[in-house]
Amino acid sequence: MVDLDARELEQADWDWADVVMLTGMIVQKQSLISLIKEAKQRNKIVVVGGPYVSSVPEEVQAAGCDFLVRGEVERLMDKVVMALENREQGGVFEAHSHPPLTESPVPRFDLVRMDDYLAMSIQTSRGCPFDCEFCDIVNLYGRIPRCKSPEQVIRELDYLYQLGWRREIFISDDNFIGNRAHAMAVLDLLIPWMKSHGEPFNFIAQASVNLGRDLELIDRLTEANISHVFVGVESPDEEILKAAHKYQNVKTPLIDSLNNMNKNGLSVMASFIIGFDGEKKGAGERICAFVQETNIPVVMLNTLHILPNTKLWDRLKNDGRLLEDSTSGQSTGGVLNYIPDRPEEEILEEYVQAWNYLYEPSRFLERTYRYYLSMRPTRAAGGVVADPAATVNGRGFKDAAGDIQRFARLSWRQGLVSRARRQYWRQIFGMMKHNPSRFVPYIVRCIMGEDMFRIRKSLLKDSRAFQ
Ligand code: SF4
Repeated sequence: MVDLDARELEQADWDWADVVMLTGMIVQKQSLISLIKEAKQRNKIVVVGGPYVSSVPEEVQAAGCDFLVRGEVERLMDKVVMALENREQGGVFEAHSHPPLTESPVPRFDLVRMDDYLAMSIQTSRGCPFDCEFCDIVNLYGRIPRCKSPEQVIRELDYLYQLGWRREIFISDDNFIGNRAHAMAVLDLLIPWMKSHGEPFNFIAQASVNLGRDLELIDRLTEANISHVFVGVESPDEEILKAAHKYQNVKTPLIDSLNNMNKNGLSVMASFIIGFDGEKKGAGERICAFVQETNIPVVMLNTLHILPNTKLWDRLKNDGRLLEDSTSGQSTGGVLNYIPDRPEEEILEEYVQAWNYLYEPSRFLERTYRYYLSMRPTRAAGGVVADPAATVNGRGFKDAAGDIQRFARLSWRQGLVSRARRQYWRQIFGMMKHNPSRFVPYIVRCIMGEDMFRIRKSLLKDSRAFQ
C-alpha cells in the first residue's frame, strides 16, 4: 500500500503489482488520472474506487480504468475479487444502498508505514443527520448515520495498540455526535479501555456545533481523551447560515457554544467559508471579529468551492453559474469555480486580508494564549481522578526526542527570530504559571501556527502577483 502523500512510487512497486487499486478524493483528481494512465501504459489491470469516482466517474473512465467501484465497498468487494479471479476484462460495480457498518472488517493498519503519520484514522460511523447545501456527505453516505458497534471500535483500537501505536487518532466520522446515543455507547467502552491501557491515545474528532450545548457529552469526550474537535462554523452571519441550510448553527448560539467547549477542555478548530450567495461586503472582517471574540487559535478559512452532487451544485448549474472544469477540487488559493453574486475580486481580497489578519504572528499568539488560559485545568491537575492531560502516555524515546526537537525549533523561530519573541517567552512562562496542565496543547497550537504563517505568506505573495 502506497500513500503518495507520504512517499513516491518506486519501480519495485510497479514490478510487484498484478493489479493496481486506486482511491482518492476530489483534491487528488489530477494525480489519480495520471496514475491510471501510467498504470495502463505499464499494462496493469486498474481498479478505481473511493469518494471521487463515486461522485464523478466520467473522467476516470475516460482515463482508461478497467474496473470502477462506485459507492461503499463492503458489499462489493467479493464481486470485485471474483471478477479479477475470473480474469474479466472490466466492469462497473455500483452500491445501490448503504451497507451496515457492522459488516466492516478491522482495517489492515499493518499495511501502513505508521512512522509517516502524526495520526492514525478510525471511523465509527458514516453519514450526517444535517443537510448543508454545500456538503456532499449526505449524498455519499446518507442522512441517517450508520454506526459500527462499540465493540468493533474497541477491536480497531486494540489492533492499533498491539501494533505499537501511541499517538493521535483521528476519528474521521463526518459528525461523531451525529447519533448521540451511539457516541455515548462508544464512550462507555472507550473510557474504561483508555484507563486500563494507560491512556495510550489522544483523539481528534469532527462534531457539529450543537455539541457546545451538551455539557454531559463534552465531559465524556474529554474523559476519553477526545480533546480536539473540528467544528464547521462556516459563517458568523445568521442569514447566510439559514440560506446554506446550516440550521444547527442558527439554533445554537455560536459564541456561547464554542466558549463552552473551550472552557470545558476541548480544543476547537473551526472552519469558515467565504463567498456564499447573499453575503454582504465585509464578510472577511466579520469572520475575523468572530474568531477574535471566541479566541479559537486555528481556523481554516476557505473560499466556497462547489462540490459535485450537492444541492448547491444543482442550483448553480440550473442557474448557469458553474464554471468550466468546476471539479478541479482546489478550494484554497483564490480560484472560484462558480460565478458569485458579488464581485469576485471583493471576495478574494477579503479572503486574503482575513488570512493576513488572523495569522499575524503576535495576534495569533495572543489569541492562543487567551484560549488556553481560559480552559479548565485537566482533571488530573485538579486531583479529581487520574485522567488524560491531552497528552499521550506510553510514548517511546523516539516520540519524546521528536517533541523536544519540535519545541526547540518553535523556540528558535518564535522565541528568537520572530518580532513577537518577547511575547512568546512571556506567554510560555505565563502558561506554566497560570494553567500548567494545558501547557502542552498550548505549545502544539503554537507549532500549528507555523504552518498557518506559511500559508499566509504564500497567499500574500500570490495576491501581490495577481495585482
Ligand atoms: S453538519 Fe457537516 S457533515 Fe453534516 S451536512 Fe453539514 S457540513 Fe456536512
